[in-house]
Amino acid sequence: AAAPPPGRHLFSEPAEVEALRGNLLAWYDRCKRDLPWRALAATEPDADRRGYAVWVSEIMLQQTQVATVIDYYNRWMQKWPTLQALAQASLEEVNELWAGLGYYSRGKRLQEAARKVVSELAGRMPRTAEDLQKLLPGVGRYTGGAIASISYGQATGVVDGNVIRVLCRLRCIGADSSSPAVIDHLWDMVNVLVDRSRPGDFNQALMELGATVCVPKAPLCGECPVKQHCQAWRRQLFGKRPAVPDVEDCGVGDCPLCPPATEPWDSSLGVTNFPRRAAKKPPRAMRTATCVLERRGCRGAPEYLIVQRPSSGLLAGLWEFPSLPLAQDLQEEKEGEELADHLQAWMGQPVAAKDLQLIGEVIHIFSHIHQTYVVYSLHLDGDVTLDPALSPSRWVTEEEFSASAVSTAMKKV
Ligand code: SF4
Repeated sequence: AAAPPPGRHLFSEPAEVEALRGNLLAWYDRCKRDLPWRALAATEPDADRRGYAVWVSEIMLQQTQVATVIDYYNRWMQKWPTLQALAQASLEEVNELWAGLGYYSRGKRLQEAARKVVSELAGRMPRTAEDLQKLLPGVGRYTGGAIASISYGQATGVVDGNVIRVLCRLRCIGADSSSPAVIDHLWDMVNVLVDRSRPGDFNQALMELGATVCVPKAPLCGECPVKQHCQAWRRQLFGKRPAVPDVEDCGVGDCPLCPPATEPWDSSLGVTNFPRRAAKKPPRAMRTATCVLERRGCRGAPEYLIVQRPSSGLLAGLWEFPSLPLAQDLQEEKEGEELADHLQAWMGQPVAAKDLQLIGEVIHIFSHIHQTYVVYSLHLDGDVTLDPALSPSRWVTEEEFSASAVSTAMKKV
């Protein structure tokens, strides 16, 4: 069994925990951002509606900036203000509203989970972090804790990227912050720290601190409401002077939470020595040939052909221009030929590579894929009959394209 963590990585003094809670909550009351989901969580009297409002915000905020989410959130809540309304929506409508927000499976799972609450749980949201995680698809430990604490006042902590950064700095945790030893320790720590009477506000305050003050690159330590509890800050201020006892005490090589001995404190980095992460795997490079097929529509305006992606995998169920993933080792001059063959099989009529006009390349970074779209265009004089056994497809005007469930990558194309 792992040895218990050395004291410097804990909050073991009840008086310090009390003081930290008080300072953090007072700062939050003064400085918190006005966000639509906060207003709903504070004013919605119906518990199920409140839980739903927080849930939607938490799913949208995963991997996505607050500023981007606000508009999507407002439109979503206007269109589907309740679980029941969302349960009745089609996946196409969900994808259309989600278009541009990224990580598309989130919207789909949210809707599946809403259907489950309505059909299997009589429309009643589970009230605890444990039940939320157990019963709702797409709800993990963080989201369950956030919904239960913010909507239902359960005294349970949460750990997200912002919380990881703040706590690793507060307690000089320099081991790989994605390692199970560190993550487990941080969950234990937030469950000690969380304020028993205002758990939802406490959790939001800790995340807000990470998002606005204890930011990754240039934290505003001078303005930080918890700086007197922060070991990284003290260490930056006092360096190795004896005025700071024990700050390096457990750096003897076997502490699972200290920085590795091979990467000691770098004084040029100050508090941003923490947190640390093992180097990420570089994204996989992919090339995809894509063809913007254009025809003159019945009202004279140009129309473009879009096809629907399969219902699982990357960008599931979204629409795109006809596309073909290319083999890694394919020579660039062969790319147009491959695409022409693909289009030909699909349209049931000859397509010559020389008719495809190469427009250029578009690069789009997905979380784990560095995707290059090689973009061609092809103008059609007559109509084409697409094989109905293949993916669903339709012709759209530019305006209809923008309103369809298409990814940001396709909008760039
Ligand atoms: Fe973060 Fe600086 Fe505050 Fe410490 S003092 S918690 S490093 S902002």
